Amino acid sequence: MNTQWIVRFHDGNAAMRQLLGGKGANLAEMTKAGLPVPPGFTITTDACRAFYAGRTLPGGLMKEVTDALEGVEAQTGRRFGDPQRPLLVSVRSGSVDSMPGMMDTILNLGLNDETVRALADETGNARFAYDCYRRLVQMFGNVVFGVEGVHFETLLHQLKQSVGAASDQQLTAEHWQTLIEQYKAVITRLARTTFPQNVQDQLRLAVEAVFRSWNNQRARIYRSVNRIPDEQGTAVNIQAMVFGNLGDDCGTGVLFTRNPSTGDNVLFGEFLENAQGEDVVAGVRTPRPIDELENAMPEVFAQLTRTARQLEAHYRDMQDIEFTVERGKLYMLQTRVGKRTAQAALKIAADLVAEDTITPDEALLRVEVGHLDQLLHPAIDPEAKLEVLATGLPASPGAASGAAVFDADTAELWAKRGDRVILVRAETTPEDIHGVIAAEGVLTSRGGMTSHAAVVARGMGKCCVCGCEDARVDEASRTAVIGGRVVAEGDIITLDGSTGRVIAGHVPLKDADMTPELMQMLAWADDVRRLRVIANADNPEDAAKAREFGAEGVGLCRTEHMFLSPQRLPVVQAMILAETAEDRLVQLRKLLPMQQADFEGIFRAMDGLPVTIRLLDPPLHEFLPNLEELVGRHLRLTLQQGDADAAERDALAGLIRKVRSLHEANPMLGQRGCRLGIVFPDIYDMQIEAIFRAARVCMLEGVRVLPEIMVPLVGHENELRILRELIDRVAGQVLGADAREVPYKVGTMIEVPRAALTARKIAKHADFFSFGTNDLTQMTFGCSRDDAEGKFLSHYVDNKLLPANPFQVLDGEGVGQLIEWAVAGGRAVKPQLKTGICGEHGGDKESIFFCHSAGLDYVSCSPYRVPLARLAAAQAQLTLGDAADERQERIVS
Ligand code: PEP
Ligand code: MG
Repeated sequence: MNTQWIVRFHDGNAAMRQLLGGKGANLAEMTKAGLPVPPGFTITTDACRAFYAGRTLPGGLMKEVTDALEGVEAQTGRRFGDPQRPLLVSVRSGSVDSMPGMMDTILNLGLNDETVRALADETGNARFAYDCYRRLVQMFGNVVFGVEGVHFETLLHQLKQSVGAASDQQLTAEHWQTLIEQYKAVITRLARTTFPQNVQDQLRLAVEAVFRSWNNQRARIYRSVNRIPDEQGTAVNIQAMVFGNLGDDCGTGVLFTRNPSTGDNVLFGEFLENAQGEDVVAGVRTPRPIDELENAMPEVFAQLTRTARQLEAHYRDMQDIEFTVERGKLYMLQTRVGKRTAQAALKIAADLVAEDTITPDEALLRVEVGHLDQLLHPAIDPEAKLEVLATGLPASPGAASGAAVFDADTAELWAKRGDRVILVRAETTPEDIHGVIAAEGVLTSRGGMTSHAAVVARGMGKCCVCGCEDARVDEASRTAVIGGRVVAEGDIITLDGSTGRVIAGHVPLKDADMTPELMQMLAWADDVRRLRVIANADNPEDAAKAREFGAEGVGLCRTEHMFLSPQRLPVVQAMILAETAEDRLVQLRKLLPMQQADFEGIFRAMDGLPVTIRLLDPPLHEFLPNLEELVGRHLRLTLQQGDADAAERDALAGLIRKVRSLHEANPMLGQRGCRLGIVFPDIYDMQIEAIFRAARVCMLEGVRVLPEIMVPLVGHENELRILRELIDRVAGQVLGADAREVPYKVGTMIEVPRAALTARKIAKHADFFSFGTNDLTQMTFGCSRDDAEGKFLSHYVDNKLLPANPFQVLDGEGVGQLIEWAVAGGRAVKPQLKTGICGEHGGDKESIFFCHSAGLDYVSCSPYRVPLARLAAAQAQLTLGDAADERQERIVS
């Protein structure tokens, strides 16, 4: 069978996105709709995959390209390589999922020493023709032959200096000709090859290079951050060139059909007069707001506005459009669904529902779960006193403080060692992607709201201030002068991406509020979702915050966190170090009222909702001083040998003995969780008593209390059996006749594989299962999280041995099987058994999708993640439906 490697624009449509990439599919769709699109065709993603499989362009591809090019020649009345009327084309990458700026593009292909003269004659503008040619040689040298851009930039800089030109505009055709020869020489010297004069060679090499750019470093990083599959491949679009740099009746620009930062329903964009292609997005010159196009070119503006509305109506979503005006004629070069901030995503989705363009269900699928994270990030406290250094463009909202760094590598390095950094650049290029990922925020001195930095930061939900012209950035000396103040590498600055302010030092932040749009969206989500969303909260404040965010209860209260305050820790230590049972009891009686007070606070905050309290989990040594430090101190005292120190030395020796006796080789697998509770029942006894006392006090106040006591680290049914007996006994003692008013549940965490495997037996003693997927992942993989993440895990993920970090995204294939098995087994014994998850994964979208399809009843996550979990649970229902029931039936049978 003959595979067809290319599709002409007039033969494709928007539904062919997988084959044509987003750009190709939309160019075809616009062509079909009769919009002014320069003619062209798309080389399919199939061809890219074949290129990678065979390590060469697939057979027959270039023949198809030549044939299709003839069609473009017929439409334009020009010929590729023709010495009189040459056709010039662009070769642009275009993947299925938008990856702005990550892959390569070459413009002006078809120019050589001969055709450039024809272009000069035809346009009557030799300066323009040679400028186009030098851009081609530069892009070609860079993209095809891998000569770094800096070599070309340096030559241009030197030329300008030598002729005393302040800007590119002052260079003449002769200057460009000189530069072209220098560029060619640099290619010959560094790449040991020559710039091809044969236009067919140019085309073939360009297509190969764009395919190769699918695998450049920045594209790979972008894919892994955005979880875009590596095997997808990119399409390549070959299209007749139109020129925005032929004179003052020309220009190029970017237009969003709504404001991508706020979501307001107004056209938003920028344009540059007399400029080509990438000038706007590259941020090299700061462009003018789109409104000014109305004065400059009223007819073009009217047509553009009409087309923008037409495209938005057609795609039923906000569009990001690229256009070029050549001698007063408008051309559409691209349309795609525009990247937007969280705030804009919510507003646009809600407005489109109000405008009857989409349904609430569609609106729920339009908002990215990760965006809610950004929205709920704290913002600058309006009461704070600020030292504002300068103000740039508010390109992506949110606020962030960090140390100023001036290159992407440093940003990555410092962030890895735990510093918060702000990446400060004159402008960012796609090569900076790893720095943008590592930074808390991005500041650029050049570039507009549609510059690379702005688009990428918005997509990632990072705050960004760009085009800050009061900042002079000197990357070489690692300093910037911002509003007259020198900021050196490491100095702390704060960005306010909502107003564009750049502020000296750290600034206090304030919690974000739930906006009406967010409340509306979450209300829609609540109508749809099947999973309940509850929160991990260890104190009354977190519980209250979680409830404000819509949590329907507490799924995990880690009681050990209540032991760590400076007032309590000494009591906890005294309890652990007690030599006799009586001594221990004395200390436990001191702890009891403290724990009780905390529980009361949480019960009040969660009035009417279940509160799951986990009994003590970590090994006891975690509450004691560090052994190495103690030994060091002891050694110092011994060396001093003063009599006065003798008593202290002996006390220290006693402490060291005790800490040693509790020391374990593998504490995560040692005496912790229920193992501790069984060997030292007094501690659990005290905790259970505190829970029921608190429950009773609250109940008498009129609070509806629904405690659920959870036993950690159970691996054998006998562990839960014994501890359930203890819980029931203490409950009876504390509640007495009030027991009916406090309906409580007893359940277990499932975090040891054996517990999952023997779920049927364990379920006999449990009212609920809560999957502790942090430990369950550690124990299923057989690696400790702390060691794995610091050592081999990032290597595994980078090298695709694992699809993702399993501590962040639940490993459905392995850990997931244990969960499904345990749910099926537990429910077979107890159909009403409540099941949920309380590991970190409870706040991760993909993991929430897994929980939905595994038929769990709830997910529990940190308070700030509750809104995103509500949205993710609704998206899971809308995309996966009720798949869970069938799946569970299969496992049971
Ligand atoms: C878990 O193991 O998933 C869990 C929630 O417990 P912790 O993280 O406290 O060990
Ligand atoms: Mg655990």
